[in-house]
Amino acid sequence: MNTPSADLSYAIGLDIGGTKTEAMVVDQQLHVHSRISKPTDTTNPKRVLASVTQTVYEALHLAKATAQQVQVIGVGIPGLVNPETGVVRQAVNLNLESYPLGAALKAEFDTPSFLENDVRAAAVGAFEYINRTEPVSHIAYLSIGTGVSAGMILDGRLHRGVNGMAGEIGHAIVEPDGVQCRCGTYGCLETIIAGPAIVRQALAADPTIGAPTSPDKITAGHVYTAAQSGNKAAQQIIQYVSRTIARTIQWLIMSYDIDKVLLGGGVARDGDAFLQPILHELAHLRMQSTLAREMLLDEKVARIPSDFNAGVWGAIWLAKQAVQQI
Ligand SMILES: [Zn+2]
Repeated sequence: MNTPSADLSYAIGLDIGGTKTEAMVVDQQLHVHSRISKPTDTTNPKRVLASVTQTVYEALHLAKATAQQVQVIGVGIPGLVNPETGVVRQAVNLNLESYPLGAALKAEFDTPSFLENDVRAAAVGAFEYINRTEPVSHIAYLSIGTGVSAGMILDGRLHRGVNGMAGEIGHAIVEPDGVQCRCGTYGCLETIIAGPAIVRQALAADPTIGAPTSPDKITAGHVYTAAQSGNKAAQQIIQYVSRTIARTIQWLIMSYDIDKVLLGGGVARDGDAFLQPILHELAHLRMQSTLAREMLLDEKVARIPSDFNAGVWGAIWLAKQAVQQI
């Protein structure tokens, strides 16, 4: 925390999720003045706005800052957004459809805001993070949590695609005979490597995994722990999941010839237990192929540290870029 000053102007980053909203207040030198996480009320659009607004005021209060000092607000949203108009076209988890969030924030705080899909925003955050230590121009950010999605930075710029959905690979079909995904299709990538999918597969193989925690509270973390403790069923599931993640990394690298694939999201928080089996599978691919030996180097894969909130940072960077262009 830094000493407050009346001369300071601030930027606010928001990562609005279906369960919680994370907010961060930074000054022009990007020093962090406050960072909080509060529940998101998704009952209806009015309540979403009220809970987000309340979170912003609390973050400002903690930073000893006022709304008048806010230069811009960057917002990451889990859904389809239009950054030009500030309209959330669709965000199922937030109960929002064709909702003018940018205009609503402008009315409340009298400051410009910039909206982006949360994973696209996190890709920008991850890109800025890695560039602190390693200059790179092309990355994929692969988020593995409750859902699975990626964001692409190509030539140093966020690649959005026609609908701003470039990287939405969680719904790429990898197992046509697999289980039905929440999107309706069968065998999407998400039905294998997302956190709930890891738990589902593990409990089907061995219902005692994670005990005595009740089955509805078991997370992917329990499965990784069980695998490390020698549970054979958990080890098999983690091997299958890691092999599928390694193949996903291979697709991303072969599709875009990028410097790095950066891994984030709730499942990636399991650290080495998460990363090591993936690196093992990549080594296996290298043993099979000269091309893989050339393209799939271990140093192309890295995990974003759990304490770095790529989504909030990315929202801030995008918002600051947007105001500089006005
Ligand atoms: Zn799907």
